[in-house]
Amino acid sequence: MDAIVCVKQIPDPEAPAAAFKVDEGAMKVLDAPGIQPVINPFDAQAVEAALQLRDASNGEGTIRVLSLGPDSARDAIKHGLAMGADEGYHLNDAAFEDGDAWTIALALSKAIEKIGLPDVLLFGRQAADWDQGTVGSIVAELLDLPSATVLRSIELEGDIINVSRVVADGFERIALPMPCVLTISNEFGDPRYPQLKQIMQAAKKQVEIWGPSDLGLDAGQVGAAGRRVQMEALFQPDSDVETEFIEGDTAEEKAATLVRRLREEKII
Ligand SMILES: Cc1cc2nc3c(=O)[nH]c(=O)nc-3n(C[C@H](O)[C@H](O)[C@H](O)COP(=O)(O)OP(=O)(O)OC[C@H]3O[C@@H](n4cnc5c(N)ncnc54)[C@H](O)[C@@H]3O)c2cc1C
Repeated sequence: MDAIVCVKQIPDPEAPAAAFKVDEGAMKVLDAPGIQPVINPFDAQAVEAALQLRDASNGEGTIRVLSLGPDSARDAIKHGLAMGADEGYHLNDAAFEDGDAWTIALALSKAIEKIGLPDVLLFGRQAADWDQGTVGSIVAELLDLPSATVLRSIELEGDIINVSRVVADGFERIALPMPCVLTISNEFGDPRYPQLKQIMQAAKKQVEIWGPSDLGLDAGQVGAAGRRVQMEALFQPDSDVETEFIEGDTAEEKAATLVRRLREEKII
């Protein structure tokens, strides 16, 4: 069972909201000082899914972790290696900067072809910063592979992968042939946490670094030059919410005051 897991490094979603700032003029998210970026949590779950699939194949197969991003994205790759993946690949070049989902998926798909198509390609259901949830599906389309998104479970049955998708009113079970693209949701469960020994071992593993020319792409196809979506504005909305505490000696009195206030405001 060979797998490639695409992982993205993102600003820490646990950081306080006040640390999140954008430069509206440059339309860029600013790095939060003192807060280290992390592997996208859904992508750590995708690595976990790959490890479980390999366990179900008697431990046979190679798991590769692939990321597009700046120098710091190496840490997201190392996290996957520390969890138990075997090899890391880093698409790192200034020309990749400021791309959109299309340019990212195009570069990832070229890297996947260069590595060699595995049995399974795994992604997070979405990156928890921009939340577009599109990169996995675009890669599936570019590579002409079957895909299933937002998965809570995966089971190997011979040459088939049985999956359970999270849908609005329950779950949907489908079976896919391999190779295929799968995107993993938070319902999959907690990923394993790398131990110190594994982190030290991962630090010694080589990570292959590729730029656009290694992938057969020219500078006009990647990053800002190749993007198909243009951003018009990026801003933090003003919050003008006011909070009113309903006072009263008893619950009945508070309830009566609440009803009166809601009537005054014509809410009921
Ligand atoms: C017009 C526009 C301008 C933008 N400008 C900027 C900008 O200046 N700076 C900036 O940082 N972002 C920018 N973005 C956001 C950036 O392009 C998004 O990261 C991209 O559109 C993909 O969306 P997403 O990150 O929500 O990924 P999703 O589609 O939500 O990701 C799904 C999954 O795909 C995989 N994946 C996604 N990205 C990567 C990656 N880089 N490497 C490996 N795997 C990956 C992961 O498995 C992830 O869980 C811009 C977006 C748009 C539309």
